[in-house]
Amino acid sequence: MNAREMAVRDAAARKARVFYTEKRRAAEDFGRLVFNRTVMEKLLPKRVLTNYLQALEGKEKIQPEFADAIALAMKDWAINLGATHFCHWFQPLTGYAAEKQDAFIDWKTEDTLIEKFSGKSLLRGEPDASSFPSGRLRSTFEARGYTTWDPSSYPFVWQSGGTSILCIPALYFSWSEKVLDMKIPLLRSDAKINAAATRLLRHLGIDAAQVFSTLGCEQEYFLVDRALFSLRPDLLMGGRTVLGAPSPKSQEMEDQYFGILKERVLAYMKEFEEVAFALGIPLKTRHNEVAPSQHEAAPIFERASLAVDHNLLLMEVMKQVAIRHDLACLLHEKPFAGINGSGKHNNWSLATDKGLNLLDPTSGSEDGLLFIIMVTAVLTAVHEHAALLRASIASAGNDHRLGGHEAPPVIISVYLGAALEKLLNNIEKELDHERTHSITMDLGIPMLPELPKDETDRNRTSPFAFTGNKFEFRAVGSSANCALPMTVINVIVAESLHKIIDEIEKKIGKKEDSPKAFKKAAMPVIRKFLKASRPIRFAGDNYSHAWEKEAKKRGLPILKRSYHAFSVFAEKESISVFKGVLSEAELKARVEVMTEQYSKLMNIECKLMIEMVRTQILPAAFSYQQLIAKSIKNIHEVTPGMGKEQASLLRRHGKLLDEVIKLAQHLDERREKAFDLPWNTRGKAFCEEVGPLSHSLRLLVDQLEAIVDDKLWPFPKYRELLNII
Ligand code: ADP
Ligand code: MG
Repeated sequence: MNAREMAVRDAAARKARVFYTEKRRAAEDFGRLVFNRTVMEKLLPKRVLTNYLQALEGKEKIQPEFADAIALAMKDWAINLGATHFCHWFQPLTGYAAEKQDAFIDWKTEDTLIEKFSGKSLLRGEPDASSFPSGRLRSTFEARGYTTWDPSSYPFVWQSGGTSILCIPALYFSWSEKVLDMKIPLLRSDAKINAAATRLLRHLGIDAAQVFSTLGCEQEYFLVDRALFSLRPDLLMGGRTVLGAPSPKSQEMEDQYFGILKERVLAYMKEFEEVAFALGIPLKTRHNEVAPSQHEAAPIFERASLAVDHNLLLMEVMKQVAIRHDLACLLHEKPFAGINGSGKHNNWSLATDKGLNLLDPTSGSEDGLLFIIMVTAVLTAVHEHAALLRASIASAGNDHRLGGHEAPPVIISVYLGAALEKLLNNIEKELDHERTHSITMDLGIPMLPELPKDETDRNRTSPFAFTGNKFEFRAVGSSANCALPMTVINVIVAESLHKIIDEIEKKIGKKEDSPKAFKKAAMPVIRKFLKASRPIRFAGDNYSHAWEKEAKKRGLPILKRSYHAFSVFAEKESISVFKGVLSEAELKARVEVMTEQYSKLMNIECKLMIEMVRTQILPAAFSYQQLIAKSIKNIHEVTPGMGKEQASLLRRHGKLLDEVIKLAQHLDERREKAFDLPWNTRGKAFCEEVGPLSHSLRLLVDQLEAIVDDKLWPFPKYRELLNII
């Protein structure tokens, strides 16, 4: 038995890891490992608590004199849960979480220790993390990076490997206060959207002290048996199969979507959900996705900042728990060619501290004006910054998915649904008196008491869709950190809101500044903005070729490859819309970091592919060649003249092998040359030359896979990876 056959045997024999815990009440366990409001209320003195709660909502800074008291309470709470260490848990530009753990100890005397965690350690960390990508922001100033506690997200105890660690969500910046992480821009963008939206609410006479963005992200993923996974260097190191022929049956029978979950998968889901629950992640939905072995987990939405942390934490939980179940959880955007990739639908909306959803057409101002201005602002924002939104989801991984099987295309457009589309058309055409549903409000806006939220009014092909009371940004990749797309949506909508309000304000004199005057002046301005943003609205099939032509005509940006999108962050319009969130230098640094990550990843994948071809596939193909040759020779001896077809098979096989060898050599040379270039031209070379070459090599090798003796093939095939669980 070869390694592959053994792995298949082991994988097929595995049983689900099932534990029934009948008395458990999920809600009771929720947040068991989180330093949340309930815990704070129990443990903190009143004055400290008030300050902390204000900081949690971004309304106040933590007063330094309270830091020691908070640190003490946190330490005692965490030690009771078994914690021995603490760390600042932050999100550098890799997009992943990072940490450096310290034990809760200090010298008491020269040879005894005490448990200690000071306010100073809570507030600030100096991880000396000089190896994180910074786009040269740091080397030009100072090497040191600092972390500082982010009180807007809850500290939690992470349990893994039999040890427990108090993790303190933190922000990461350089000595010269340059932003080096994903969270600072998000928090700043929330402050921006807060300023813009509260400005609107004041005009409309709606009471709210604060507006913040909300996020619910639907996380798609694949599960593969760990033994099969481990035999594939590409999956093991890159999370994606860089080679692999399609199996005869993939997803065409549509028998996976919402199909009954297999026991091994359910047992896994149950366990990671329990861990997530204890960490305060409100997971609600689980189901099978369209591709075989593809699934989805979705939480209840939360404040965007918290939801971003929770999603990152959830991805880690999913990966770690998978190992306990002899599974590998694949979060890559396109682990398998030819079937669906994975996304992370980002459901975005805005909420007030009073619980009002600004995108809910059934609440807000009675005449629906709040909702209509909000939708107009979103349309304007997406229209004016479609390229920036595209850039916010750009990555090497997402390039394989966007525009592929059931994935949103790279062209950003907005789908509103028939009802809202009709409402906006009526407003635009001044058909104020047509009644779309039942009521006509005082402004003459045909108001919809409720926009249909049912599935029939869905357009699964749209990258940015209105779904009843929120927008769903579907182009985000499954492995992405949601902070960047959320930051972009917040800043562009804030800008559009200000523009709209500016124009309305211009139309009303200072003296008549009242909700009534504002409402009266609003309609012509809304009309103007709706007309201008019309090209971004699209209700048809986003997957069709006709749409690409049409989008071109409409002047919408079509940035097919991520490499071409990164630089949008450094364009004039982006620098302006990011004001107060990221500086020009910081944006330029991000372009560099993203381009670098992109090239490095493509370089790794190419090297993996070439190594797999040279060290495993070619030897298998040569053995197969020998097998045919021997067979022909033997047949010829017994029955001279026979074996013509076999000889032709041998020739075809030999020719294919020659092509593979040649192309692998060529690819390796191009790859090496590309990698020696400076960062910007390097990205271009990987995008435009190396990428297409590696694709061609893949196609050739996949042809080999379909011919070579199955017993000799060294890697688990798609049929095994996608079906044995
Ligand atoms: P669907 O995708 O069918 O509209 P769901 O209600 O399941 O429906 O929503 C998907 C995700 O959107 C969930 O994570 C949900 O919590 C989230 N969501 C719902 N309302 C909002 C909102 N106001 N802001 C952000 N996310 C929301
Ligand atoms: Mg959805």
